[in-house]
Amino acid sequence: MPWIDTHCHLKSASDRHELEATLSRASSAGVNRYITVGTAAEDWTYYRELAMLKPNIEYTVGLHPCNVDPDADWATTLSQLPSFFTPECPPAALGEIGLDHFHLPKDPILAGRHILAQEEAFFQQLEFAYQLDCPIVVHSRDSFDDCVRMIDTSGVNWQRVVFHCFTGTANQVRLLNERGGRASFTGIITYKNGNSVLEALVAQGLEPLMLETDCPYLSPEPLRKQRNEPANIPLIGQVAAAALGISPDDLMARTTANAEAFFDLAPR
Ligand SMILES: [Zn+2]
Ligand SMILES: [Zn+2]
Repeated sequence: MPWIDTHCHLKSASDRHELEATLSRASSAGVNRYITVGTAAEDWTYYRELAMLKPNIEYTVGLHPCNVDPDADWATTLSQLPSFFTPECPPAALGEIGLDHFHLPKDPILAGRHILAQEEAFFQQLEFAYQLDCPIVVHSRDSFDDCVRMIDTSGVNWQRVVFHCFTGTANQVRLLNERGGRASFTGIITYKNGNSVLEALVAQGLEPLMLETDCPYLSPEPLRKQRNEPANIPLIGQVAAAALGISPDDLMARTTANAEAFFDLAPR
């Protein structure tokens, strides 16, 4: 059974004409299934085409909060989302969607407009997820409580919710788990200052655990200065396995099975 990278942005490798080399390095490292995550209309169509070409690549579509420009017509962009959810090559999830109160303009009035637009776009995408009853990939940065509150209000099934690239505390992961939701973890757990995130991973336990690179960002140690790629999933897995007191092989089997179940993937 191979590792799965449950959250990567493969368009960045493709834009550098390095997609095939990137996938081949991942395969050599034992990673051979990917969920490439949409962030804007510019990558949705590309990811669907990629998923149609390659049976080991799944994709998602969603408008990332940092791509919600209050002065642009993001509502028209969102209106394209339903056209992807057809039987031919449906996305594995809606995402990434959520709130990001970290990357905001300095001007407080403009920042306020961004926050409102992010909330409105998140609200509309949660409504759509509720209708579809599909998995959702949540991006939450400096906005954990607001994201939880909005998901609570939406009526979305928490069993289908993952907070990706989790950077919160053990208490926050418990708030997700109590509701039936879960967190997935990146190379941040390998960082010296990532201890509280590793504690959150241990608090959540193996049962719902999924791993992701979020590449090209957030390379794990000892490769932190390099560009991240799916081949680095085993480095994250080794740290998670040590923290949970199990072997990397067992962790691989469990996290792969968890991801297959969460995203409704046929086992390979
Ligand atoms: Zn994200
Ligand atoms: Zn991402």
